[in-house]
Amino acid sequence: MASVPSQSSPQAVPHEQVVIIGAGAAGLTAGIYTARANLSPVILAGLQPGGQMTITTDVENYPGFANVIQGPWLMTEMQSQAENVGARVIYDIVTAVDASSRPFVLSLDSGGQMTADTIILATGAQARWLGLESEQAFNGRGVSACATCDGFFYKGREVAVIGGGNTAVEEALYLANICEKVTLVHRRDTLRAEQIMQDRLLRNEKIEVLWNRQVAEVLGDDGGVSGLRLASTVGEAELEIAVHGMFVAIGHDPATAAFARVVDLDDEGYILAEKGGTRTSVSGIFAAGDCVDKIYRQAVTAAGMGCMAALDAERWLGEQE
Ligand code: NDP
Repeated sequence: MASVPSQSSPQAVPHEQVVIIGAGAAGLTAGIYTARANLSPVILAGLQPGGQMTITTDVENYPGFANVIQGPWLMTEMQSQAENVGARVIYDIVTAVDASSRPFVLSLDSGGQMTADTIILATGAQARWLGLESEQAFNGRGVSACATCDGFFYKGREVAVIGGGNTAVEEALYLANICEKVTLVHRRDTLRAEQIMQDRLLRNEKIEVLWNRQVAEVLGDDGGVSGLRLASTVGEAELEIAVHGMFVAIGHDPATAAFARVVDLDDEGYILAEKGGTRTSVSGIFAAGDCVDKIYRQAVTAAGMGCMAALDAERWLGEQE
């Protein structure tokens, strides 16, 4: 006998005043501030709740902690803090945002929808990696994608930076102040970085540039990284260099694909926000953290921008009344 379809009524779409997309330092801080402003925010935590800090180990540069803390611990605390003041964290991924009508309509990976008066985009970015097995094996034990975060652990030692853009040059210069020697490894014979940065790099006696080289393997043992095996991109013989750390600086990918037709992005996919603020090209949608910022990229700056987005959203909601 054929079954009779159930007669359940369609579920009402939940409505929120503030929906925050992303649960890294920016999103959680926006959650803390909007919750304390009595706006009862929902934080949609995507694939990596806690953001990039959850793949970091020792954190020494987040203010407020005299001793080293762990990145995942910091993010768990931040989430608990947001929840304790009234933010609700939902584990779902936003697949689409319809900003053509008010309230905004968000479609979720789970199949549901929700509507929101205001949205804070805080989806972050991810460092690009070389994609080597050995790179993955030594991640956090000599391999890093953030000199500002991890450079201090290589004080007085020799390190390599991979890449030829502004980030790579900036990281090499930063590390030269801390380390004994920095080798910049670039796959071509010209840098992409701005000329002024290149001049600074080439003038620095602690930095050596290895042109036309690509990492073939990260070498090391239980004690961590001990060197790199470098292939040539112009047919020369392989080369091994001795280093204790490898900083990969080959770019970041902002997690903004779902918003490409919603708010204006720059040509690298970062969300364009007003100068010195968090308003995007769509009134009522704000953005904070590494999905906007390609310069500073720190947990503390992301948290600061999350606070700014929360205050901007609160003010914007007040203006609508
Ligand atoms: P970029 O995309 O500018 O540079 C990436 C570099 O990595 C390039 O030199 C590229 O080589 C190299 N690379 C890419 N993939 C690989 C790979 N698989 N193996 C080896 N090398 C690889 O990224 P950045 O992070 O440097 O900069 C991103 C944006 O942020 C830029 O617009 C930059 O100007 C901006 N920025 C600005 C700063 C500032 O103003 N202070 C600081 C930092 C960034 P190739 O050159 O051969 O393509």
